[in-house]
Amino acid sequence: MEVMSTILQLKQFIYHKKEQKQTIGFVPTMGYLHEGHKSLMQKAKSECDIVILSIFVNPLQFGPNEDFEVYPRDINRDLQIAKDVNVDVVFSPSVEEMYPSEVYTKVSVSNLTSRLCGASRPGHFDGVSTVVMKLLNIVEPDKAYFGQKDAQQVAVIEQMVFDLNMNVEIVPCPIVREKDGLALSSRNVYLNDDERVQAIKLFEALDQSELWIDEKNVTIEELERHLYDHITSAPLAMIDYIEILSYPDLQPIEGNDSVSQLLAEKEIIIALAVKFGKTRLIDNRIYSNNTMNVKRQPDLGGIVYV
Ligand code: AMP
Repeated sequence: MEVMSTILQLKQFIYHKKEQKQTIGFVPTMGYLHEGHKSLMQKAKSECDIVILSIFVNPLQFGPNEDFEVYPRDINRDLQIAKDVNVDVVFSPSVEEMYPSEVYTKVSVSNLTSRLCGASRPGHFDGVSTVVMKLLNIVEPDKAYFGQKDAQQVAVIEQMVFDLNMNVEIVPCPIVREKDGLALSSRNVYLNDDERVQAIKLFEALDQSELWIDEKNVTIEELERHLYDHITSAPLAMIDYIEILSYPDLQPIEGNDSVSQLLAEKEIIIALAVKFGKTRLIDNRIYSNNTMNVKRQPDLGGIVYV
């Protein structure tokens, strides 16, 4: 496995691999790798000749009062994990390498970013789409892998690729969870013991939503109330948002139809963002008319939604 920190080095490597007609899979991350990241790398490895992992904590996507400075980092541990999964190259540039001067050009995807994390974190998705555009231009992969844990991010990146006729296939990958259901996240390390116990309420609420939809025949409003009541039964939970929108266009759904009726026509997403102390957790579940299958993946140590 090669570790590279300059764009030139990486471009030269890729130029040679493309000359040899090798396909390239790309997994962009901010590091502090866990099984969720690992599942993306494994999928890339199974579908492409060469896998490139980037580790870059992107300052552009953090707000002024967010956790850029303290975002967890452990490059040596990350390199070992990448090596274990047979990644070919880890690209780990400095902030100066990625942004050598003030950024004049940004990529901004409208509409899809006005709700959910786009509303709670102004400027966040401009930072994400700009860095992903830069990375995709540097790596020029055949396929790029993103987790459905960040479902809004997947929708935004897919839209950007579509709108700008980019030559890459975006591959959404299922959410990987802890054994008790908590979605894996680099930020989970911030949780203290009490917060960690109560954080399970997000998954429980999503899990019970299936029952509320199928058996109780709830409307969107009723479902939101059930989710709210369940999550706020954890005394430490501070709701940022609980929203049910159409997916992937992320628009509010009008009318008083039951959710199960709505599912005959469209996919919906239940999206949650909840703070426990200083830690903001997100999770979601996407429903379509052929309701999600749940299957255990013992090798990942968790539950994966497919
Ligand atoms: P991050 O390092 O948090 O920016 O995440 C890098 C990539 O890993 C993104 O595409 C995330 O959606 C994905 N990812 C993060 N956590 C998970 C998870 N629990 N399951 C699947 N993918 C994940």
